[in-house]
Order: sequence, then C-alpha cells, then structure tokens
Amino acid sequence: DKPSFKWRRVLLKVSGEALAGDHSENIDPKVTMAIAREVAAVTRLGIEVAIVVGGGNIFRGSSRAGCSGLDRSSADYIGMLATVMNAIFLQATMESIGIPTRVQTAFRMSEVAEPYIRRRAVRHLEKGRVVIFAAGTGNPFFTTDTAAALRCAEINAEVVLKATNVDGVYDDDPRRNPNARLHDTLTYHEVTSKDLSVMDMTAITLCQENNIPVVVFNLTKPGNISKAIKGERVGESVGE
Ligand code: UDP
Repeated sequence: DKPSFKWRRVLLKVSGEALAGDHSENIDPKVTMAIAREVAAVTRLGIEVAIVVGGGNIFRGSSRAGCSGLDRSSADYIGMLATVMNAIFLQATMESIGIPTRVQTAFRMSEVAEPYIRRRAVRHLEKGRVVIFAAGTGNPFFTTDTAAALRCAEINAEVVLKATNVDGVYDDDPRRNPNARLHDTLTYHEVTSKDLSVMDMTAITLCQENNIPVVVFNLTKPGNISKAIKGERVGESVGE
C-alpha cells in the first residue's frame, strides 16, 4: 500500500534570502544541496513538487529603483533575471543527485530554459520531474510570492509552502525583540488586517481568492522541507 500524504502536489517557494544561507556570495551550495536532498526524498514518495525561486539574494527591484536613473520596471527586470540565476543553480544541484528537473521562465530565454507552458509544466510533474518556475510572473511591480500564488493556482497545486529563515509569523521582529511570539494558525483576514509579513498583499489576496493555504516554515532546520511537503506540522499556516 502506498502511504497517503496530506498533499499530492505542492508549490514550494524558496526566497533568495534563504538560498544565500551564510555564504559570503549570493548562493550557498549547502542550502541548494539541502533543498535538493529533501525534495528528492519526497518525490520518491510520489508527491509532485513545483518550486518558485526568489531573487532577493542577488537583486531586489524595489530597493534599487531610483539609483542613477534606474526606473522601477528596468530594476524589476533585473530582479526577475536574478531569479533565473538561482533557478539554474538549483536545477544543477538537483540533477547532480539524480532528480530530473526542468526550469520554465516567465519570459523567453530559450537557450537557457523552457518557456512557461502550463500544460507542459503539469506533464513534467505527472512524470515525477521537479519544475522550477523562474522570472517571477514576468511582470514588473510583482513579487515572486505572487508568482508562487499564481503558479500554484494555475497548476492546481494544493498549497504554497513558503520556506524562510524564521520559524513562522511573529508578532514582532524576533531579531530585534527577544519577546516576539509566534502566531498560531492564522486566517487570511488576520494577515491582511494586521499587515503581518507572511507575503505581500497581492500574493496573500490571490491565495485567499483561490482558497490556497499558505504554510510558512523555517528551511534552515534539517528535515523541515520534507516535513512541510509531506504535510506534517511545521511553522505557521494561513487559511487552513
Ligand atoms: N520581480 C518582478 N516581478 C515578479 C517577480 C519578481 O519584477 O513577478 C522582481 C522584483 O524586482 C523583485 C525581484 O524580482 O524584487 C526578486 O524577487 P523577490 O523580491 O520576490 O525575491 P525574494 O524576496 O523571494 O528573494
């Protein structure tokens, strides 16, 4: 008998900051290897995994716009290109340990990766391949969290698993306030009305409108990624 898990198909969001780990450069190979190993373990169990990667470890459009005449849209295109670099790195790590992986980009870069084609992405997943979605939504003024919510809805994944460097959603910044407390299970309304830093508003409302639960968890704790994918309780959940 095949063991049954909570989710059949998940959308894992890995932020750029998480990929940076404590490496002095942009991407920590220890982090990409840890992700690859844990994803390998769950794909072997038959759970389908799609990944959206961020780019904040390399370039964040919103914080660079305005420098030396850089307009926001151009800055955001650079940010989207940064996510492609992370995606290629992660793909290479996954394939080095034998996980078939495809990168699909939101705008065409055919020499580097496949273009995003929804049906093709779903087909890859059905065949047990991991699909990494890069270049966000392909549009400036959006984030990769919004891309995660969008792709999750498009491919009928059941949950957005947001991997971060913290244990969940605190009522204050735990790095500044040692008394900051973790929230219990949250509703979408609590997140938007209290402006909690789960995701930006566009992303969280897209999840709400499509009844997509969001699980925020700490990827730096070994085992957490596979636990989250298997539907075991890690971190905080919104809208469940
Ligand atoms: N970005 C964008 N449109 C998108 C997704 C991302 O313009 O749909 C740009 C934006 O400049 C953003 C950067 O890509 O700052 C990196 O993405 P993000 O900040 O979401 O990455 P993360 O915070 O997850 O590392």
